Amino acid sequence: MSIALFPGSFDPLTNGHLDIIRRASKLFDTVVVGVGNNTSKKALFTPEEKIALISATVADLNNVEVAIMHGLTVQFMSEINAKFIVRGLRNSKDFEYERDIAGLNSALADVETILLLAKPENQNISSSMVKEIGSMGADNMSKFVPPIVVKALKERLE
Ligand code: ADP
Repeated sequence: MSIALFPGSFDPLTNGHLDIIRRASKLFDTVVVGVGNNTSKKALFTPEEKIALISATVADLNNVEVAIMHGLTVQFMSEINAKFIVRGLRNSKDFEYERDIAGLNSALADVETILLLAKPENQNISSSMVKEIGSMGADNMSKFVPPIVVKALKERLE
């Protein structure tokens, strides 16, 4: 059985992340969306809030699970029995970063990184961009994030 981990900050989940989750769910038996617990990044949402937003958005995908990650990625993967890491690529900057991390992870454990190219319409979407336009009170966030995230952002940023 193929189990893939899609790790990230998801602060918050965007349509770009969602597209990667949907596509990965067709490639693997199970996809675990791993919400990072990175204390060095100042987050808008807590890991528990992120889990709730992601779970509600992917409720229609039967083989997708959402979990809080702890420890090293490869340690967490061994706990959940995942052999694949899924990451999304928007541009060459993402590529350089992901290539380094993939090299490190494969040196640490028997895991394979699968990089999925962002759809052209999602290439400019990032969680930080969404937070910036949200803080300006922009009303067209629904182009960038799922409806439940629009609602949560409005509540958090008002
Ligand atoms: P991290 O801090 O681990 O990079 P992010 O939540 O920013 O966490 O991103 C998680 C993963 O989703 C990364 O592989 C990133 O490249 C990918 N990703 C982010 N935004 C998009 C997007 N718009 N389209 C496709 N993949 C994306």
